[in-house]
Amino acid sequence: MALVQCKECGREISDRAIACPQCGDPKRMASSSRGIRILLGVLVSVLVLMFAAGILFAWLAPKASTPVDVYIDDLERTSAPPR
Ligand SMILES: [Zn+2]
Repeated sequence: MALVQCKECGREISDRAIACPQCGDPKRMASSSRGIRILLGVLVSVLVLMFAAGILFAWLAPKASTPVDVYIDDLERTSAPPR
């Protein structure tokens, strides 16, 4: 449990309180900022997971055996001028 400041009267109230006991102002701002924080947390963890998966995939992928690399290698060999 943490104390947050009421945006209406500035008094410290519980973050679990639905409304400020002093002025009765419903904590719309506090609850929405909390939702944004959760959303940001999810977004950051998804980005970190994608980043980690990308590194893992690049690390696991064989270096020069992708179909495009093989095709380019083949193309260079066949199109090279004879000496
Ligand atoms: Zn208040």
